[in-house]
Amino acid sequence: MDHKLYYADAYRDVFTAKVLKQEREEDGNWYAVLNQTAFYPTGGGQPYDAGMIGSSKVINVEEIAGEIRHYLETPLTETNGELVCRIDWERRFDHMQQHCGQHILSAAFEQLFDYETVGFHLGNEIVTIDLETETLSEEDAAKAENMANQIIIENRPIEVKWVTEEELSHYPLRKETKVKDNIRLVIIEDFDYNGCGGTHPHRTGEVHGIKILSWERQRKNIRLQFVCGNRMINQLGQKQKVLLGLTKLLNAPETEMVQAVTRLLETNKSTEKALDQARDQLLDYEARELLAAHTDSAPMISKVFQNRSIQELQKLARLMTLKEETAMVFVVSENENRLQLVCARGAGRAENMKTIMADALAFINGKGGGNPSFAQGGGEARVSGQQMLDHLHAFLTNEGEHVR
Ligand SMILES: [Zn+2]
Repeated sequence: MDHKLYYADAYRDVFTAKVLKQEREEDGNWYAVLNQTAFYPTGGGQPYDAGMIGSSKVINVEEIAGEIRHYLETPLTETNGELVCRIDWERRFDHMQQHCGQHILSAAFEQLFDYETVGFHLGNEIVTIDLETETLSEEDAAKAENMANQIIIENRPIEVKWVTEEELSHYPLRKETKVKDNIRLVIIEDFDYNGCGGTHPHRTGEVHGIKILSWERQRKNIRLQFVCGNRMINQLGQKQKVLLGLTKLLNAPETEMVQAVTRLLETNKSTEKALDQARDQLLDYEARELLAAHTDSAPMISKVFQNRSIQELQKLARLMTLKEETAMVFVVSENENRLQLVCARGAGRAENMKTIMADALAFINGKGGGNPSFAQGGGEARVSGQQMLDHLHAFLTNEGEHVR
C-alpha cells in the first residue's frame, strides 16, 4: 500500500518516482509502472488522474493485475533515475469535491428516508446517484440537499482509518464492504461511515456546496443529477448566460420566463392555424381560377409549378376535381432536382390515373401510387415539368383506349 501515495496524502500533486517498467500493450498503447505514485487509477466511481510523468502526458491510469499502469500519450524517453511527476490538481480536486459530495448526499438520503444509493457515476459535467426508490418528491429532495449542505457548512473533519473486519463491527456502516481485510474506512463523524478507496478532502467544507439539478425514474430507481463545488459555479454561469440571452430575446424578466415562453408558443400555434386557413383559402381561389380558364365541358387542366409540396398539389387537384366532376388534372412541381406530380380526375370521367401515373413514374425513375381516380408520385428531374406534361398527354392520346 505504501506505493499508493494518494492514500497517505490526497493533496500530494508533485512527487518523484523510479520507472519499474515501460511496456506497450497489444493495441499499441504505452504504459509505465512506477515504484510509487500519486496518480489515482479509475475505481470506486472516481475517474483516473491526468498529468505528466517527466515530459510524457498521462492519458489514463488503471490498476491491472496488481500494478498501476500509467498510460502515456508518448513513451518516456528516459527511464533511468528519478522522474518528476505531476498530477493535474484541478481535475483531482474536482473529483475529490464530487466524490465527497456524493458520500454526504447519499448519507443524507439514507438518514432521512432510508433510500439506499445503488449506483454512482462521476461524469465530466454531471454527477449522478441511483437511489433505491421509485418516487422522489420536490420536498424530500430539498430536505436531503439542505441536510447535505448543513454538513458542509459545519466543516466536519473527514477521517480515514484502515481497519480489520473485526474492528469494522464497531462502526455503523452504510453499506457492507466488498473488501474483507485491510478495509479503508472513510468517516464523517456522527454522520457517515463508509468503506471507500477514493480520495477525499480533509474537511467537508472543501466540498463548498451541493446542488441537486434534476431526477428521473430509471427502472426501479431514481437517477438523480447533482453537482458540487466548482461545478456549481460553472453551472450557475452557464445557466445565467442562457437566461440572460432569453430575457433579452423575450423582453421579459427572468422570473416571468416560463409565462413569456408559454405565451409565445400559444401565439405561434394560433398563427400557424391562421396561416393554414389562409393557405387553404388561397388554394381554393387558385383552383377556381384554373377552372375558370377552361370553358370546355370536360376540361383537361395541366400546369407546371415551382417548389410546391406534394400535399399542396394534392389539395389543389382534389379541389378542382370536386368542383368540376368532368375535369382531368395533371399538376407537376419542379423542386430542385426532383419532380412531383399528381394526376386526378372527377367522378364524371373514367380514365385510370394509376395507369397513367405508373407510366409517368417509369419515365423519371420515380415512386408513387394511388387509385383509379387519384394518383401521386415523385422522381428525378430528368426532364422539365413541361416535358413531363407533354409525356402525359402523349401517353393519354396513344393509349387512351387502354386507360379507361
Ligand atoms: Zn469515498
